[in-house]
Formats: sequence, C-alpha cells, structure tokens
Amino acid sequence: MAELVLNKVVKEFGNLRVIHGIDLQIRDGEFVVFVGPSGCGKSTLLRMIAGLEEISDGDVMIDGDVVNDLSAAKRELAMVFQSYALYPHMSVRKNLAFGLETMGAPKAEIAQKIQQAADILQINELLERKPGQLSGGQRQRVAIGRAIVREPRIFLFDEPLSNLDAELRMQMRVEINRLHQRLRSTMIFVTHDQVEAMTLADKIVVLRAGRIEQVGTPLELYNKPANIFVAGFLGSPR
Ligand code: ADP
Ligand code: MG
Repeated sequence: MAELVLNKVVKEFGNLRVIHGIDLQIRDGEFVVFVGPSGCGKSTLLRMIAGLEEISDGDVMIDGDVVNDLSAAKRELAMVFQSYALYPHMSVRKNLAFGLETMGAPKAEIAQKIQQAADILQINELLERKPGQLSGGQRQRVAIGRAIVREPRIFLFDEPLSNLDAELRMQMRVEINRLHQRLRSTMIFVTHDQVEAMTLADKIVVLRAGRIEQVGTPLELYNKPANIFVAGFLGSPR
C-alpha cells in the first residue's frame, strides 16, 4: 500500500489557484524529490502534506486515512527548513530535546535519542554550544537532528541546503543519502537544484506552475523527458 497519497489536491490563496489538482503516490521508504522553478508551488505542496497549510480541495492520505483535518503534530512527520529555525538562546542539546520534552517523553529516552542523532550526524562535540557558535553546515545538521529525534515516519525537507556553499552542499547530500539508507523512512525533499534532484531521488516529481509535468526515476527523466520543459530543466539532450 502506498504510504502517502495526494488525491486531486488543490490550493487557492484567495482566488489565485497555485496548485491545480495534483495526484501522487509515494511508497513507504521512498526518497522523493519535488523539483521545479521558484514559485511553482513546491513549498505550498509540502506544507499541505505537513498539515501547515489548509487544503482547498482534494485529499491527503497517509496509510489509507484522509488526514486533511489532522494537525501537523499528529501526522508523524518532521519538517526541515532552509532557515534552520533553531532556538538561539538554547544549547544544541536543548534544541534537540525541546520537542520531545514538550511531548512529555521520559528523560532517559530523550538522552538516548539525542545521543543516537548526534552519532549519526557527528555533532557530539557541538551539544553544549549555542546556535550562534555554529557554522551554517553545523546548524543545518542540528536542524536535521531535531527531525531525527522525533523518529518521524516521513521527513519533509524544504530546500534545506540552499544556504550552504557548494562544497558543503555536496557533503550534506551524501549525508542525507546515508541517513535515508540507515533509517529507511519516507523522505520528501524539495529543491530547485537539478543536480540535487538527480543525485538524491529514487523518484523525481517535476513541477511547473502548480502542475506535475512528469514523475519518474532520475534515469527515466534523463532518458525520456516527457516534454521540452523537463528536458530543458534537467539539462538532458533532446
Ligand atoms: P516554491 O516553493 O516552488 O518557490 P511556493 O509554494 O512558495 O513556490 O509558491 C507558489 C505560489 O503560491 C507562488 O506564486 C506564491 O507567490 C504563491 N503563494 C505562496 N504562499 C502564499 C500565500 N501565503 N499567499 C498568497 N500567495 C502565496
Ligand atoms: Mg519554496
């Protein structure tokens, strides 16, 4: 059974329609990349999946249940943003613990989850620092760590690497790949960067002006782009 299903999902802001009835199935454990030019609706779509944005029409389904009216907190997913959204006055350890503490998790369990996330992301030496004492790449690691400790079924990434320089971006791509291999969670990753899409995805969803142009593996899209937009956008010859 598909883990996450979008069924004719529509989004309107006032009378401006920005998502035009999107159908999509994402299997359990799949790494899916939404790619498309700025303003095509990637963030809006991700936010509707997350429960941070109301759906104008259609359904979002998780494991066969319509979750349209379920709050973000109840959807068992975690979102990582481009702006890391860390609490500046709290240590890294506290930033990682905060969400779990508010959910009332036992102290020992919180400590164990932080340890595990710190090991995966190699941020053990950073746990007592404040976000202001970290580099961009280190902050992004902490932001990902904050998602990991919640052990979500689905990770949602909204252009998490676009504030990083080219070398760090490449390094983080490798790390996110490794994270997916290790956790096997469903991951949806939004980017406007073609290389990021081609290197990370099991499945790429190419969006343009609120519609899906094509869905396929990186190889399928490269070898058989559905149209000139996809070919041009992914840089394949045609
Ligand atoms: P992307 O993430 O692909 O750059 P967005 O999902 O942010 O695109 O935006 C898609 C479209 O929806 C854009 O035209 C944008 O201006 C519009 N939009 C996004 N959020 C709002 C909002 N809160 N109110 C009105 N229009 C919005
Ligand atoms: Mg966006």
